[in-house]
Amino acid sequence: MWSPEKEEDFIRSTDAVVWATISCNKCDYRYEAFFKKSVPNKCPKCDGNLSSTTPQGRNSPLSAYTEKYASDILEEALKNAGFDDLEVKRNVICDELDLTSRSAADIAIVEKGEIGRIYKPNQIKVIFEVKMSVIWNWELNEKGEIAIETDYDKHKGRGSIYRTDSILKAIGKGAIFRSHFESCGIPYVVVGNSPTPASYLDKVDGSVRAGIVQRFISLTPEPLIIDKSESEVRNPKESDGKGFLRIDSQEELSSFIEDLLKDERVFIGSMLKKSKLGKIIKSLDLNKDYSDIGEDFFKKLYEMDAV
Ligand SMILES: [Zn+2]
Repeated sequence: MWSPEKEEDFIRSTDAVVWATISCNKCDYRYEAFFKKSVPNKCPKCDGNLSSTTPQGRNSPLSAYTEKYASDILEEALKNAGFDDLEVKRNVICDELDLTSRSAADIAIVEKGEIGRIYKPNQIKVIFEVKMSVIWNWELNEKGEIAIETDYDKHKGRGSIYRTDSILKAIGKGAIFRSHFESCGIPYVVVGNSPTPASYLDKVDGSVRAGIVQRFISLTPEPLIIDKSESEVRNPKESDGKGFLRIDSQEELSSFIEDLLKDERVFIGSMLKKSKLGKIIKSLDLNKDYSDIGEDFFKKLYEMDAV
């Protein structure tokens, strides 16, 4: 699972400039870190103001690294769950679902066999939106050694789904995805490597309850390295409504995938007049089996006018 070793590997292996320089406006105090510290805000030597320059261009190698990482462990989980006819692909395109080359699905579980990246909706089984990043704050000392300086929630650069705008963007993308009829049977999962802010757990649960997102998961079992205080709040296993889930092992990821794939499910989102709902129910052939009745109900729901 995601760990400090993975982040160190990214920092050491990338050619991109990753270090932010934090410097004092009055004296020569400066240090290099991945993120700016929350404390101190003032220079410890002269009490001057500290400002930081965030390097440009570290985001795209970082998302390439995290998406490859997520794709590799999902592939292993899928294999261990025994779905031999499916595979994991990156940057999946599907015109019917508005997943274009400019807004492809980061990762998808798809039917095995296609050589390219273009799929039909019925060949796509799960879609994953990856919102991972470097979550710990790393510092570089004069000797060129690097070490974790603060945990994910104690520095100024919020990473992964600890960033509220990442959560909102993922929910927005899910809502657009759900506006296409063909998406109705495809789970949409947001993959992070940190907890969400505690104050956002209700929004996460709400979007999962509404069916827009099927789950927010974190792939980091232990995001608290430096300070393990209040770990139930700062490192929750899951939210009250179970919309957020921390995955602690490869086995747990396998059973999560198995659960997503084994039962066919459909998305129902609608604001209906009760009389209209009654009309649909009355028109159904209730002698069919449960799954077929569900299918008919669902089709009729989508055939209705939007208002
Ligand atoms: Zn200073």
